[in-house]
Amino acid sequence: MLAEIKGINEECGIFAIWGHEKAAEMTYYGLHALQHRGQEGAGIVTTDGETLHVHKGLGLLNDVLSEGEFSKLPGQSAIGHVLYGAEGGSGFENVQPLVFRSSKTSMAIAHNGNLVNAHALKNQLEAQGSILQTTSDTELLAHLIKRSGHLEMSEAITAALQMIKGSYAFSLLTEDQLFIALDPRGIRPLSIGRLGEAYVIASETCAFDLIGATYEREVQPGELITISDEGLQTQTFSTPMRRKLCAMEYVYFSRPDSDLNGVNVHASRKIMGKELAKEVPVVADVVTGVPDSSISAAIGFSEESGIPYELGLIKNRYVGRTFIQPSQELREQGVKMKLSAVRGLVDGKRVVMVDDSIVRGTTSKRIVRLLKEAGAKEVHVRIASPPMNNPCFYGIDTSNKGELIAANHTVEEIREIIGADSLAFLSNEALERSIVADRDMEQHGICNACFTGNYPTEIYPDTVLPAYKA
Ligand code: AMP
Ligand code: SF4
Repeated sequence: MLAEIKGINEECGIFAIWGHEKAAEMTYYGLHALQHRGQEGAGIVTTDGETLHVHKGLGLLNDVLSEGEFSKLPGQSAIGHVLYGAEGGSGFENVQPLVFRSSKTSMAIAHNGNLVNAHALKNQLEAQGSILQTTSDTELLAHLIKRSGHLEMSEAITAALQMIKGSYAFSLLTEDQLFIALDPRGIRPLSIGRLGEAYVIASETCAFDLIGATYEREVQPGELITISDEGLQTQTFSTPMRRKLCAMEYVYFSRPDSDLNGVNVHASRKIMGKELAKEVPVVADVVTGVPDSSISAAIGFSEESGIPYELGLIKNRYVGRTFIQPSQELREQGVKMKLSAVRGLVDGKRVVMVDDSIVRGTTSKRIVRLLKEAGAKEVHVRIASPPMNNPCFYGIDTSNKGELIAANHTVEEIREIIGADSLAFLSNEALERSIVADRDMEQHGICNACFTGNYPTEIYPDTVLPAYKA
């Protein structure tokens, strides 16, 4: 049963633009900046005011659409998506935006997140005669909108949003309107900017920088935004609640040059590294970070401890992220192909290896071995986040509990498994300090459920895990 609806909207990246003569082109570049959020599929849908034009496919954005092909996508408004797909969940039918055509209003939907009541909704919709064509919970939203009975699109969307639970950042394009919505807890990041007169919306602000757009504000938790030629209108579809933006966005997913909810990702990672050096210091000769996501934390650790930072690990740029590999064996090979230890920098040294997180332990184990094979005398592993001992239900592919090494082993056991001379994690309090600092918790609160087990939404007994089954 669990395989029926997989968490295939998981990390993903969404981008949208309204009112720009090069809408498809801007979306293409915006998605380029978000490519790290998903490499399994990409798609763009534009509207010319009368018809939706679709171009999408499996693979990287460049494999799906080349720079010369924008004329295939006419119109001044567009939405786009890059798909992160877990095993079995990334067939062509799941590549977004999903398009639903009808004689009255057609719509295209792109989604980042995971609905925790998807299973119950699916059963309910099927019992009412709906035929679902994908394994994506994005499609559920389309059916709920169609079945809401409201003629006005924003009312139909509001009714549908009030039925779904979990994490979601949605963009929905019709022939003449763009709708943007964020879940009531604001678990996934989503920002609005301007590019001249045009409105732009993106999962991360790095997409604005690439196209020269200026950041305006965050989409608020529980906010539904409607953009049309009449301008932008906003409404709330749920009672305001304390924000719970995913801490793992700061720890690992987002690009260091993005600002999430006004906090720069690189800066917060650097503080995580500093806090780590304060909480669990170590005597060593060099600090090295695991490229790319841990470099900022490693720099912070080095600055705080006074131990010099060195590029002890080099990444082969042309191999994808390890998690994308479907089996444990292939994932281990992925790590091997991806990273090399620099002998000249680590030989005979006591090395602090800073990584952003440990999920299954695969990466740390391989890297400790690489460093030791390159002559490191001691390898001290410092993790810039707490032990991850709870699964994520909100679209982050952190597998089921059985696969989380910290859910099944003590820190000392993990140290032994990964072959490190010492191992320590950042505390929850320090993680929160690194991100929230002295900001108002109502606006800047974070989800840390995978570290604490305190989930910011109801979790349903039949909640479908974004399962990553090796
Ligand atoms: P693992 O090898 O399973 O312990 O995974 C940990 C490594 O994967 C770390 O180096 C992180 O940079 C990265 N990582 C952490 N969480 C995720 C995730 N949900 N998806 C993909 N990669 C991740
Ligand atoms: Fe992010 Fe963890 Fe919360 Fe999932 S449980 S949304 S990974 S902080």
